[in-house]
Amino acid sequence: MAPNFKVEPLDLWYMEKFSENWGLSFRIKRGLYSALSDYQRIDVLETEEFGKLLLLDAAIMLTERDEFSYHEMLVHVPLLTHPAPRKVLVIGGGDGGTLREITRHPEVEEVVQVEIDQEVIRVSREFFPQLAKGFDDPRVKIEVADGIKYMAQCPPHSYDVILVDSTDPKGPAEGLFTHQFYAHCHRALKEEGILTVQSGSPYFQQDLLARVHRAFRDLFPIARIYLSGVISYGGLWAFSLGSKKHDPIQGPIRDFPHKGLRYYTPRVHQGAFILPKYLEELLGL
Ligand code: SAM
Repeated sequence: MAPNFKVEPLDLWYMEKFSENWGLSFRIKRGLYSALSDYQRIDVLETEEFGKLLLLDAAIMLTERDEFSYHEMLVHVPLLTHPAPRKVLVIGGGDGGTLREITRHPEVEEVVQVEIDQEVIRVSREFFPQLAKGFDDPRVKIEVADGIKYMAQCPPHSYDVILVDSTDPKGPAEGLFTHQFYAHCHRALKEEGILTVQSGSPYFQQDLLARVHRAFRDLFPIARIYLSGVISYGGLWAFSLGSKKHDPIQGPIRDFPHKGLRYYTPRVHQGAFILPKYLEELLGL
């Protein structure tokens, strides 16, 4: 006879360790998907409070609840610094969130996305339709290819804005954080071009942030760091922006319909470049 008591669900948590001694945990309702692609392990978990969570090689990529604070800032700061962003390139960004934000801009005529792993795109279409809707815009062209090789072969003066929405510098993304890769991006940008990359946690990846900033200073007349608060990435997150002509700290240079946005405003744009003292010291500003 079956025992006469109710089995309570297990208290399941997923923790990503940011260092040996600190991690970020989500209470998990259930696992929705796990598989190995040709490049990485892909997992989708359903959390109790943050909606669905995408992991690549066990690293947190996004949650439905707070992805806006990353994607809006990666995209709208450079696109509203450039006077006419017609041709935009995205390296990585397989979840589609960056494309979704770019396609809000009517000035953009063509977006090329170079993502190495087709499976990330497919999984995002299946589990994250609110992000993946960017893939369906007729201006978007997807290339399934290695962004490092793509940039090495990209003809000069091809793009107005290049955005690097990559995983951390491990595995296939390692070469996306080198001086040589940024030099190829610089060459591929037009005269008023802007490169923006996610450059890690200003707490846990300080060496990376300083290294990226040195490369940007070496290559671009204007090199800036700005910040967003992304809970799922452990708090503050840094972006590095290199610009051939226009300085982003002046704020947005065009009106932009902010309907539907939840993080970016013209005041947030300007304020994001104000860095705490420890970062000014780290970056020698
Ligand atoms: N916002 C996320 C973050 O900061 O953690 C990154 C999201 S997006 C899913 C990162 C994408 O970069 C992944 O889909 C991965 O496959 C892609 N990627 C990694 N290395 C790449 C490369 N060499 N070329 C093109 N895409 C790459």
